[in-house]
Amino acid sequence: MTLQHVNGERLWGSLMEMARIGETPGGGSRRLALTAEDGRARDLFCGWAREAGCAVTVDRIGNIFARRKGSDAHAPPVVFGSHLDTVPTGGKFDGPLGVLAGLEVMRRLQEQDIRTRAPLELVNWTNEEGSRFSPMTMGSSVFVGDVALDFALSRQDPAGITVSDALAKLYPHTELAPVGGRKFAAYLEIHVEQGPLLKEGGEAIGIVAGSYKALYFVATVRGEAAHVGPTLMEQRRDAMAGAAALTLEVERIGRARGRDGRSNAPHVEVFPNVRGVIPAEVRLSCDVRHADPTESRAMADELRDACGRIARERGLEIALEQYFEFGPIECDAAMASLVRDQASALGLACRDLLTVASHDAVPMMRHCPSALFFIPSETGISHNEAEYSTPEQCRHGADVLLNAVLQLAR
Ligand SMILES: [Zn+2]
Repeated sequence: MTLQHVNGERLWGSLMEMARIGETPGGGSRRLALTAEDGRARDLFCGWAREAGCAVTVDRIGNIFARRKGSDAHAPPVVFGSHLDTVPTGGKFDGPLGVLAGLEVMRRLQEQDIRTRAPLELVNWTNEEGSRFSPMTMGSSVFVGDVALDFALSRQDPAGITVSDALAKLYPHTELAPVGGRKFAAYLEIHVEQGPLLKEGGEAIGIVAGSYKALYFVATVRGEAAHVGPTLMEQRRDAMAGAAALTLEVERIGRARGRDGRSNAPHVEVFPNVRGVIPAEVRLSCDVRHADPTESRAMADELRDACGRIARERGLEIALEQYFEFGPIECDAAMASLVRDQASALGLACRDLLTVASHDAVPMMRHCPSALFFIPSETGISHNEAEYSTPEQCRHGADVLLNAVLQLAR
């Protein structure tokens, strides 16, 4: 089969136009899941998908599917996509690249008048980031049955608005389709790397061969509320100071592992969180990650020890509760080699790597043969307004997606 190429300029134009929805002063995007901004992004996407000849449906968790008919209507679809929601200080590429590269595939096939045997579906998954509603990868996890629909719909944002309320506001008149319960022939997702490895190595494509093992915790630090003035330093049982000590321990545990370890304490809730009162309770969310699952567990043990030590030293109580884990995932070797072959045929250098973060492709791996692949992060970072990949890097990724889709659906 001859190689096909996307229109890189059109892809770039769509990425930039999408990024203007929820544009931030620092050049990024803020589109929290199921907000008005996300709604505008969804509308723009649906309009584009219809122009590209696709039929659009939205399911009961808000996942959007844009379907292009195949010559065999009974064949399960080849599916590809990602997410349009962002973190509060998000960039232009984490998520939108996967959706809009997929849109470019649909546009290209339409203008080239290429008919595939299997139907194609481009998906925008709901709430991948988990910034507004927990858990993350919500839409894809409900789709595959890892998370119950009713549980997901009942999740609340910090203002007490549920997923169900937010969906009703975005789709007051849309008949929403059932979630999941159908087969995919395959799933493909292209994403920005979110780290520096491809940039350092000079490869155009990174094929995800597996993942880190990540363990997520909430540490609840309990001390005693007291007046910030009269209370002697020796009298205090300051939950905030304990949480600060624990934060530094979390960092130390990751740093001790060099480049293979990661550790974070990115979210904190303080009670009562007023200026005149020594904090009585702090809830600190933290996680540890490593390429080697044994090391991840050792990191978690160190974290537990640190909680015990800090609690004793400071007269506090610290309860550590694990609430989520991710990985290690096993990627489909045949799908990975299909992507690798397309990259090679296009003359693009590629390498295998592990993903440190979860993506919608991760729940999909248990649903159907799936592949996840990365293009370089030019700035080496994401979840940041400065996230950047070049037009050429985006085009190369979309070219690989287009040809992989054609191989799977022909
Ligand atoms: Zn993402």
